[in-house]
Amino acid sequence: MSELTRRTAAELADALAAGETTSVEVTSAHLDRIAAVDGDVHAFLHVDADGALAAAAEADARRSAGSTLSGLDGVPVAVKDVLTTRGLPTTCGSRILEGWVPPYDATVVTRLRAAGLPVLGKTNMDEFAMGSSTEHSAYGPTHNPWDLDRIPGGSGGGSAAAVAAFEAPLALGTDTGGSIRQPGAVTGTVGVKPTYGGVSRYGLVALANSLDQAGPVTRTVLDAALLHEVIGGHDPLDSTSIDRPLPDLVAAARLGASGDVTGLRVGVVRELSGEGYQAGVQQRFEEAVALLVDAGAEVVEVSCPSFVHALAAYYLILPAEASSNLAKFDAMRYGLRVTPEGRGSGAPSAEEVMRASRDRGFGDEVKRRIILGTYALSSGYYDAYYGQAQKVRTLISRDFEAAFATCDVLVSPTAPTTAFRLGEKLDDPLAMYLNDLATIPANLAGVPGISVPSGLAPEDGLPTGLQVLAPALADDRVYRVGAAVEALLTDRWGGPLVPPELATAGVGA
Ligand code: GLN
Repeated sequence: MSELTRRTAAELADALAAGETTSVEVTSAHLDRIAAVDGDVHAFLHVDADGALAAAAEADARRSAGSTLSGLDGVPVAVKDVLTTRGLPTTCGSRILEGWVPPYDATVVTRLRAAGLPVLGKTNMDEFAMGSSTEHSAYGPTHNPWDLDRIPGGSGGGSAAAVAAFEAPLALGTDTGGSIRQPGAVTGTVGVKPTYGGVSRYGLVALANSLDQAGPVTRTVLDAALLHEVIGGHDPLDSTSIDRPLPDLVAAARLGASGDVTGLRVGVVRELSGEGYQAGVQQRFEEAVALLVDAGAEVVEVSCPSFVHALAAYYLILPAEASSNLAKFDAMRYGLRVTPEGRGSGAPSAEEVMRASRDRGFGDEVKRRIILGTYALSSGYYDAYYGQAQKVRTLISRDFEAAFATCDVLVSPTAPTTAFRLGEKLDDPLAMYLNDLATIPANLAGVPGISVPSGLAPEDGLPTGLQVLAPALADDRVYRVGAAVEALLTDRWGGPLVPPELATAGVGA
């Protein structure tokens, strides 16, 4: 493997600035790595070697002329396939969008290009971002680089696996209920869900509009802050975008990296650990919290009693919004069109075409949620289900407010278990839904969260993650504390945790 793919984005940016390498070299090294290992990992649905190399050559030309576009100019990035990319296929992991090439870029992609980052390709995901394992992708699952028989988390397992397997230094994900943070936890990478409204949703194919946020997927907290500053900030094309400047995230990550957390008030959420959490996940979490105490943090236990209802509320609100969003895939405007035999003598009706196309184009999980959501919104049931869920959502926000009145940040394990085996939970939707137990409250309340690696579980040697949550708009706090946890732990481990070397089929350097 080329040594360039082992470097962090910050290190690559420094090497480019110092003239030690070029963007074409860096981008080629990652494309070689993809060619060598992605047959096994399957992190990518589409690799754009030509586009990435052309963008890299432009970055090198700019640098020779002395005019770079940003600190990350020339550092390549992978993009989850739920974000539209002009001229590059965008499928959302679904058959219904197979072959669709969007005519426009999502704002976050526009910003990547404007900052000079070559886009390596589009990453695999659960269909329409519904899932926690990437097994609901219509194009086959992604494999966890730590153990190819295990899931990489979901829905953004492709982005997390690409970064964990050194196929990309940076990636974008989206997090509606945990799809950036939970894949981060089970692949030993860093993932951030920004404050709702902090990163534009324009061009993010909506799963649930009131919950979705795009964010960074990286190997270090500093890299996540650098990428977040590229994609974040106000966008007039998104009516829920917050019109104020981002906090200084990179400075917060650098401050945290000193490991000094003196006086910081950290709340351990009682409802988000203990029973139901794998012993080794809980153990690594407690050890990380103990390190924070040693480093000067004041740690207290806090209770957020409504969090126990978060999962139930989420699985009413999300399907309700999703069933409405997915109505646009009707075979009339774009995507798959299946023309069934017409009934009687004539051609099939529009309804018959829609039915046949949606039947063939959507997978089981998507159909399940459309049915659930349509039911929850139907007249007569609205108050009993959707209305109740919205009230629970308010209670969850109040629990956060009360907790943040006494704590600067809250912490918990990110996911209840380490990566499970492919197929293990596929036939049990409820078991699959439980993976997001700890991540969903943040989406319901719109607050930011980060997952950072917290060590390998002793019982299976697989990565665990620690989650840091902060009040809305205080994204800098998750970077500060995330970087402190990262610094304290990597110091103890003697360096970052990396997965075992993958067989590379003799390709690449
Ligand atoms: N696993 C959750 C779900 O299936 C989260 C999805 C997400 O964040 N996109 O809904």
